[in-house]
Amino acid sequence: MLIMKKSKDVNKSIVSIVKYEKPLESVRKVVELSKLFESITKDTKVFIKPNIVYWNQHTNFPKWGVITTSRVIEDTIILLKEQGINDIMIGEGFRIGETKDNDLALDAFEKLGFNLLKKKYNIKFINTFTRPFKKIDIGCDFEVDFSSDALAADVVIDIPVLKTHAQAVSSLGFKNLLGLTHNESRKKIHSADPIKDLHFNLAHLPNKLKKVLTIIDGIYTLERGPAIDGKAHRKDILVASTDMLSADMVGTKLLGIEPSEVPLLVQAAKDRHRPMDLSDITIVGENLEELASHHEWDFIYNDAGDLPLPFQRIGVKGLKYQKYDASLCTHCSGINGVLLTFIKNAWKGEPFDNIEVLNGKIMEPTPGMNKTVLLGKCQYDKNKDHPDINVMIPIKGCPPSMEDVRKAFSQIGIEINPMIFKNMDKGAGFLMRKYKGKPEFEEKFFQIN
Ligand code: SF4
Repeated sequence: MLIMKKSKDVNKSIVSIVKYEKPLESVRKVVELSKLFESITKDTKVFIKPNIVYWNQHTNFPKWGVITTSRVIEDTIILLKEQGINDIMIGEGFRIGETKDNDLALDAFEKLGFNLLKKKYNIKFINTFTRPFKKIDIGCDFEVDFSSDALAADVVIDIPVLKTHAQAVSSLGFKNLLGLTHNESRKKIHSADPIKDLHFNLAHLPNKLKKVLTIIDGIYTLERGPAIDGKAHRKDILVASTDMLSADMVGTKLLGIEPSEVPLLVQAAKDRHRPMDLSDITIVGENLEELASHHEWDFIYNDAGDLPLPFQRIGVKGLKYQKYDASLCTHCSGINGVLLTFIKNAWKGEPFDNIEVLNGKIMEPTPGMNKTVLLGKCQYDKNKDHPDINVMIPIKGCPPSMEDVRKAFSQIGIEINPMIFKNMDKGAGFLMRKYKGKPEFEEKFFQIN
């Protein structure tokens, strides 16, 4: 059902919701209904921030609900070109992105069709890690190294995917801006501070950008995101707003989650003296309630929070593995997922030797355990002298190397074949099996012709 804006709503921020039906037409509709480009002139310098949270050079992997579709990016560029805009740059910071990793970025840009976009529309694209960063004060406890190109742009067009996130709950416009910060800042943004924590810091990310316009790409959505092991759905939804907080609140509702359950949105609303109930937002286009659907975001642990529920269900004993918290940064988070898989595979029905694995910057050891694995430099620095540790097994790197992980696991009696690490990237391809025989999951959305 199409809802039209009422005249009494003139002072409210507008969020448009549109069903994706056709290339260009659907993005045009969501842009026009939200008046997204009203303030853009032909001299505007535009920086487009897609979400390319993961890439893999070695195998095809599920991009649905994980990565912004090239379809929506191209349609956005066409609309900008129609406005006479020539200065358009796409920028993404690859999360393992030191300069030496630029091959990964170039592979992603090529396979997602960005070279063709460059030829067709004379745009630029960059891996932000090959470009300068500028130290800025956005209200965190530390200065953030932020992409200079994004800061220099008159407008950042933020194009996140409509997805959930294991720590941030929903991962939309605000969270997508994390990809414009340097790795070292990202580590700090996952802060151990109880007040200025991850959510507080994420809520402050747009503070020094001149203007941010948001288009949420919900052609595919993702449960238990943000990565390729989540569960994607074809939803064909587009959302747009000149006000990022409003777009994120509406996007969160579309994921079946209340904005009040998303700490970063609560913080951002508090900072802006905004209500959480959408009462100062006018929705135009489709009906929010009709399109909203429940998306799981959390990874469930037992009641004590010291063992993943699937481990408890298969009867794992002699192991404590506390639930991750928001201080665990993306790098260690990926490793943490791998560790859980190794441990689950190693479980043969015999109790483990009273082992505890700790990660992030906050966890403390449980007294009485035989061996305590400290994952990452943060954990080592925090607990290396803790009196409740009997035998400490540190994995010190930041992030730790897989070889150090292998050695540490050997000390707790779990031998990992080094070949597994070598072939790990290829393992991402196995996740494609989830989508086999489901024609709604189309690769063409990530291609440019
Ligand atoms: S040790 Fe791990 S969690 Fe800590 S900052 Fe380094 S990569 Fe992040």
